[in-house]
Amino acid sequence: MNSSVKEVDKFTLPELPYALDALYPQISEETMRYHYGKHHQAYVNNLNTLIHNTPYENYSLEEIVLRSEGSIFNNAAQVWNHTFYFEQLSPFPQDVPMGALAEAIVRDFGSLENLKNEIIRTATALFGSGWVWLACDKRDRLAVLPMQNAGNPLTHGMTPLLAVDVWEHAYYIDYRNRRADSIGALWDRIDWGCIEKRMPKN
Ligand code: MN
Repeated sequence: MNSSVKEVDKFTLPELPYALDALYPQISEETMRYHYGKHHQAYVNNLNTLIHNTPYENYSLEEIVLRSEGSIFNNAAQVWNHTFYFEQLSPFPQDVPMGALAEAIVRDFGSLENLKNEIIRTATALFGSGWVWLACDKRDRLAVLPMQNAGNPLTHGMTPLLAVDVWEHAYYIDYRNRRADSIGALWDRIDWGCIEKRMPKN
């Protein structure tokens, strides 16, 4: 009798820390069903298929992001980016940064409001699909960075702190072409307690 070996997918879709309708009205349940349930899931599925029987099967997700290119990079980075994006949102967010992060924002942007405006301006100027990041460099300076497609600050030696998804799939159901409005609304769901925990530990 043949015994069949069940293939186990290396990566799985991470569970959300809140219900699909919990971010309403800033993000609708329908957007979450597509964004998390379809798009994020598809990147996970694609990645599992692409790395099957390659050396990448032995790497962590972050190692794949740092060491791959082409479609493996695109799907691995999109899995990483979306996990990071959904994780930083909350139905009950800590609505302002505190401590060292608050100080760094004032030092590098002048105020939280300036940072918000800088992120919205950068997202509006980003042509096509991509991400706008708040990231920290090796000298602990904060920067707002636009990145095309699946771009991630890790590949530039920086620590990602906050991810803003500016692919149309992130906002088109709720906001149509109003990208800036979608980010203004998203702002109210950002849990700054989560962002603080992402600061590099010295
Ligand atoms: Mn997305």
